[in-house]
Amino acid sequence: MKAIRVHEFGAPEVMKLEEIPAPRPAAGQVLVCVHATGVNPADTYMRSGNYAIKPPLPYTPGVDAAGIIEAVGAGVTRVKPGDRVYTSGSLTGTCAEYAVALESQVHPLPERISFAQGAGIYIPYGTAYRALRQIARARAAETVLVHGASGGVGLAAVQFARAAGMTVLGTAGTPQGLELIQREGAHHAFDHRAPGYTDGILKATAGRGVDVILEMLANVNLGADLKLLATRGRVVVIGSRGDVTITPRDVMVREASIHAFTLWGIPPADAADVHAAILAGLDNATLRPVVGKELPLAEAPRAHTEVMESHAFGKIILIP
Ligand code: NAP
Repeated sequence: MKAIRVHEFGAPEVMKLEEIPAPRPAAGQVLVCVHATGVNPADTYMRSGNYAIKPPLPYTPGVDAAGIIEAVGAGVTRVKPGDRVYTSGSLTGTCAEYAVALESQVHPLPERISFAQGAGIYIPYGTAYRALRQIARARAAETVLVHGASGGVGLAAVQFARAAGMTVLGTAGTPQGLELIQREGAHHAFDHRAPGYTDGILKATAGRGVDVILEMLANVNLGADLKLLATRGRVVVIGSRGDVTITPRDVMVREASIHAFTLWGIPPADAADVHAAILAGLDNATLRPVVGKELPLAEAPRAHTEVMESHAFGKIILIP
């Protein structure tokens, strides 16, 4: 089968399309015929070698995918060959024509969701739900700012928050991104590249501030976020690419809190909650993964370069 292989950590070009034997599922495992695989920023951090998770070399990148169960190992009962699934990780990597996963790493993909959309589910929607509902414990009447709403996690957060009855403020850095986040449910959209845009955010809350901020770029925004919070507001740091200075007094006077997490550490009971919420939202169409771009698997280096650039517009998907 064709697969992307990484033999050394480094720039996107270390990823090569190679022919390798297809893996076979052992007991408790399934073989997925991969129809689409999603590209997440974390895939690029891993490939660079500068990340907490450093796979043994050589490896095949990719966590999120969608496809069809090709075969199952002994003892597998939850899925059968022919089932449509999305993955939350795998044992062999998803940037390939086939991937072996644990039975617990595959989840039903409703008919109405395309494989390309299915490849943009787990990390974006899992992260958004965990941040919004499990960490911030946001409630229906609250106001949520999705700071960086035009990418994978941001759009998922906008959709979850809107469906739950919250007032949703979102930011993007391009006209297309601003239009997209409003189409997907943001009541108010702000350009995070425009000088003074945070004044507009405060104005939209009549000066009260927002209850919850989901932050995609904390090293740039955390200091300003703390001045945008309402009393007992919560910031959840989802993404950060460097250091930042904050004024602790901004947290004190608001009795506010700063939370942070990585999806890798999610406890099994919370993961079950995440997948149930995702399935319900996909079924009732409140969740609609946005595919910005589809590229052939061989263009994995380009996909890794582009996912780290600005101008996000939903997900970048690779097709084996
Ligand atoms: P993505 O699809 O590449 O989207 C990046 C988002 O950041 C876009 O909406 C982009 O907007 C926005 N952005 C750019 N400059 C910004 C600024 N100055 N202020 C606010 N937002 C800005 O990435 P993603 O998959 O959504 O992930 C977002 C971040 O969360 C990444 O850093 C990722 O590593 C991290 N993450 C963490 C976890 C976790 O477990 N904690 C899980 C998933 C992702 P424009 O391009 O429109 O400017």
